[in-house]
Amino acid sequence: MEPAVHKSWRRVFHNLHRAFIIPKRNSSGWADHAAASPHSSHVKSTLLVSRLYQPSNLRDMGLDSQVAGEMSCKSQRLMQQAGLIHPSNPGCYYYLPTAVRSMEKLIRVIDQEMQGIGGQKLDMPSLCSADLWKASERWDLMGKELFRLKDRHGTDYCLGPTHEEAVTTLVAHQATLSYRQLPLLLYQITRKFRDEPKPKFGLLRGREFYMKDMYSFDVSEEAAHQTYESVCQAYTRLFARLGLRCVQVQADTGNIGGTLSHEFQLPADIGEDRLLVCGNCSFSANVETLSSDKTDCPRCSTGSLVESKGIEVGHTFYLGKKYSHVFEATFSSAQNKLTTAEMGCYGLGVTRILAAAIEVMSTEEEIRWPGLIAPYQVCVLPPKKGSKVDEASVLAEELVQTLGEALPCLRGEVVLDDRTQMSIGKRLKDACRLGYPYIVVVGQGALEETPKFEVICQQTGETMFLSKDGVLDLLGKVETL
Ligand SMILES: [Zn+2]
Repeated sequence: MEPAVHKSWRRVFHNLHRAFIIPKRNSSGWADHAAASPHSSHVKSTLLVSRLYQPSNLRDMGLDSQVAGEMSCKSQRLMQQAGLIHPSNPGCYYYLPTAVRSMEKLIRVIDQEMQGIGGQKLDMPSLCSADLWKASERWDLMGKELFRLKDRHGTDYCLGPTHEEAVTTLVAHQATLSYRQLPLLLYQITRKFRDEPKPKFGLLRGREFYMKDMYSFDVSEEAAHQTYESVCQAYTRLFARLGLRCVQVQADTGNIGGTLSHEFQLPADIGEDRLLVCGNCSFSANVETLSSDKTDCPRCSTGSLVESKGIEVGHTFYLGKKYSHVFEATFSSAQNKLTTAEMGCYGLGVTRILAAAIEVMSTEEEIRWPGLIAPYQVCVLPPKKGSKVDEASVLAEELVQTLGEALPCLRGEVVLDDRTQMSIGKRLKDACRLGYPYIVVVGQGALEETPKFEVICQQTGETMFLSKDGVLDLLGKVETL
């Protein structure tokens, strides 16, 4: 019996193999093709512009759309035109694959900086119980900004715009927290919700957005101030790495509460915050915190204050015991006494940083990225099919392959614009519009005795003609995450 079963299974398997595997290989010619060209197996893993989901057919629809509110600023227009975002309903967007690549990089930089000062990442529910918000008295205080909903049992919830209540409750549940474990810095990078009356400016003021929110727990006011300072320094480093000139300004504590607060503002014409900056010392403040007719600097008294506009990209608060007292977040002190923790909270608008960077760095027609978070670092343009330099397209493929092999930092960062039915000029315009930090044009020069590649560096605006080794040298210095 057994040999027969075995035999029949073998026959079934053999037939399956013949039916599904062998004929497919033969009919598609895949195997032959791979054997004939040493590059074809690589080309399959090359990122081809024709295959990227970055729908240009959404452009016009996006521009006419009223659903996103006013098409009111440069970053929104550029991001929709380039297929980075697409409006869904007021204040909400699809983040398309290219934008998500950039977001993921931005999150990696934020993770590095937050973990560099001891931050530990967690993830808290977006669906927050009303009971917690009632305990802190913010259920009423937040007014219409809070997205509220009821479950099937009639219990009230909100979609969290911030998580002081949730995180403090979590820490309060740990009965054995010791002073040795402090400072404790917990953060998350999650979707937040705010019922904006008039969502506008694309990702700059939406109703659903990504934020990094960190919460600190310390043994004393002094320790909490040190933590506060180290977070501010981490923010300053983060913006410096992104090449964004942010100013740290004194701010109002608003409905978060506490006694000390700073905003990190990116100066921009479309900014909705009004800042007063001293021309003499480093003092700067949000107008809200000073009397409106103030023109002399309160710190140095000799400088005069100049008003400018800013986009708020970060905010820090020293909270004291406002939440830890309500939710009984305590630790056992060195004297073995239960003591209420001192807290701080620290926000970064992740999607807002992305849009704000594009807003302040881009030209009217072309996106410019902070190099570190550009979706892709390099775009290689082969010649147009059928043109007199068509034969250089092999060199373009070879270049992409060499870059991938020789420069590990560029793995997954190089795209080949294979839409060779289009002229180089048209594709170059698209590449500039999307703002790849480096664009390599493979044309006439590549067919010379010592092949030369045209490299356009978006950050500096320079165009260089480099040998293959020159291209490798230049691109080997690109900083990636
Ligand atoms: Zn001053």
